[in-house]
Amino acid sequence: MSEIVNIQPDLAFKRELSHLSGSQLNQCMQCGNCSAVCSLAPADRPFPRKEMIWSGWGLKDKLIGNVDVWLCHQCGDCSSYCPRDVKPADVISGVRQLSYRHYARPRFLGKLLSEPAYLPLAIAIPLVVIIGILSLAGTFRIPEGPVDYSAFFPHGLLNGTFSAITLGFYLLAALGIGRFWKDMKRQCPPGESGMHRLPVFKVLGEILSHSSFSACGTRKGGKVAHMLLFFGFALLIMVTLYAIWATVTHHYPLPITNPFKILGNLASLMIYTGLGMMSWQRLRNKSVFGKSGYSDWLLLISIGLLTLSGSLVQLARFGDWSIAYHLYLSHLVAVWFVIMYLPFTKLGHIFYRTTALLYARSIGRK
Ligand code: SF4
Ligand code: SF4
Repeated sequence: MSEIVNIQPDLAFKRELSHLSGSQLNQCMQCGNCSAVCSLAPADRPFPRKEMIWSGWGLKDKLIGNVDVWLCHQCGDCSSYCPRDVKPADVISGVRQLSYRHYARPRFLGKLLSEPAYLPLAIAIPLVVIIGILSLAGTFRIPEGPVDYSAFFPHGLLNGTFSAITLGFYLLAALGIGRFWKDMKRQCPPGESGMHRLPVFKVLGEILSHSSFSACGTRKGGKVAHMLLFFGFALLIMVTLYAIWATVTHHYPLPITNPFKILGNLASLMIYTGLGMMSWQRLRNKSVFGKSGYSDWLLLISIGLLTLSGSLVQLARFGDWSIAYHLYLSHLVAVWFVIMYLPFTKLGHIFYRTTALLYARSIGRK
């Protein structure tokens, strides 16, 4: 009873959710078809019907910090079987988008990366920092002769500054994740058997195998595209870490025959293919893949630009292109956008979904 008294509708939240999802939330007639067809919903308190009722009432406090929102893998089956075309899959996705902003600390970072009006500022921040580093190092002049990135970009200073800022952003994100964990515990407390030890390896296996995507009935091909992007991105991070190490040990630049260089190019191919599939699916099959908003395209385009600029930087070095240094600058901005801003964009699902899976499995919610 006290729970009902304490929860307040938030109409601004409801309006925003409706806008993000493109859904007429009041059209839901609570038939429960969506929960019945969802192959990921647990038998006990299944989703997404209850979330649709809460959305219709604007119950932000029930939706943000709700573990089930993150168990959904946006397969779209519920939307396909909704008799009122209320698009529950897009509504749940909208709640996840609003969660990134809700948990962002400082709040400004959440706003910066969720509203198109702030895009110029989001690009200007890394540009100003990089130009500041170049000025500090006194290398702010394009060198003559064959392309040598290290003569223009002070790798030690750049890597050190980027690493420190990334660490700072991720520590700030950890504060948000901590609050998310508390909210999940409050909203979906452990049952009588309490919480079990965190099933880290089980959840890792679930993520790596993409087993939740296999249950998808409507969005065929989604699993393959996500796997290509996921493993391509992971490979690219590994290669980048090796490249940073190579700058420290002065084995940089890497020759084209270096195994890490070959792996990096393979990772780029995987990412291009995954991104191409995802973009094609979103553009060609809107009725099945739902509404694609700013955060969806920001993610796909920023990863695409990161990979493309990386490939061009490599070609420009081998071909001694005159725009090589400008390409490198744009690559650094793309690195900032994808890696440093990660917890505050849709890519933050890497942290939030993993945390939610750990919590759900530790309380026996399957
Ligand atoms: S979202 Fe659609 S399927 Fe789900 S309860 Fe509402 S009307 Fe029924
Ligand atoms: S999108 Fe798929 S996983 Fe998510 S609630 Fe709907 S049916 Fe379930």
